[in-house]
Amino acid sequence: MIKLENIKKSFGELEVLKDVSLNVEKGTVTAIIGPSGSGKTTFLRCINILEQPTDGKITIDEQTIDFSNKVSKKEIISLRSKTGMVFQQHHLFPHLTALENVMEGLVTVQKVKKDVAKKKAIDLLTKVGLEEKINLLPHQLSGGQQQRVGIARALALEPTVILFDEPTSALDPELVQEVLKVMKELAEEGMTMIVVTHEMKFARDVADEVIFMDGGYIVEQGHPKDVLEHPKHARTKQFLQLIQ
Ligand code: ATP
Repeated sequence: MIKLENIKKSFGELEVLKDVSLNVEKGTVTAIIGPSGSGKTTFLRCINILEQPTDGKITIDEQTIDFSNKVSKKEIISLRSKTGMVFQQHHLFPHLTALENVMEGLVTVQKVKKDVAKKKAIDLLTKVGLEEKINLLPHQLSGGQQQRVGIARALALEPTVILFDEPTSALDPELVQEVLKVMKELAEEGMTMIVVTHEMKFARDVADEVIFMDGGYIVEQGHPKDVLEHPKHARTKQFLQLIQ
């Protein structure tokens, strides 16, 4: 269970997250949609504390951090280790092969033996359909393949939840589907996922819950059919009309 309670985040004077609460059940997919600048990425980055919330509480599994108190580095590292992140741009190490990129966190963070890490990385790269590309460097891979390495790398550390920040938005249209297919397979296997996305079909077909954010708040949330086909709020309706 992932519990986000009254999360607030300001950058100087700018209040980006005003009061956001969300519960995510294990094994579910939550899609976050909303206009540019509404705070979706900031919210995701607060969940793994790449941005430290100004206020609020985050609980993942048995650990809670209350950001109204002083928070230690140790607490942050421990909570962050329960999350995996897949970014808009893949953030792979350019000088390491696909295999080495997936092994890196296992060997350096989790201190797994190299041969064990290698086997796990090969299994994960096979799972995302890249068994023939394991020895290539990121620049030798297509954007979609790079993103799939990024997904394998996140999976390697066996997080409680994987956070996806618009994982297909930097890709050429023909490469989008191969990444969405891998994400759909993960969802079917019961991976807990929170996905910021502009892919409405993915949200409709794969998500258990859709969250519509605007102006630093969750304006509407519910079953994808309800939010996407029968939105209640004027702002949700307006957003969906603009993008469809
Ligand atoms: P998009 O769909 O365009 O990615 P978003 O909903 O993900 O938008 P955020 O990236 O969370 O929105 O940004 C929300 C607001 O916070 C924006 O006004 C942005 O400029 C501001 N912001 C984000 N990160 C920072 C930062 N590190 N410093 C200052 N302002 C920031």
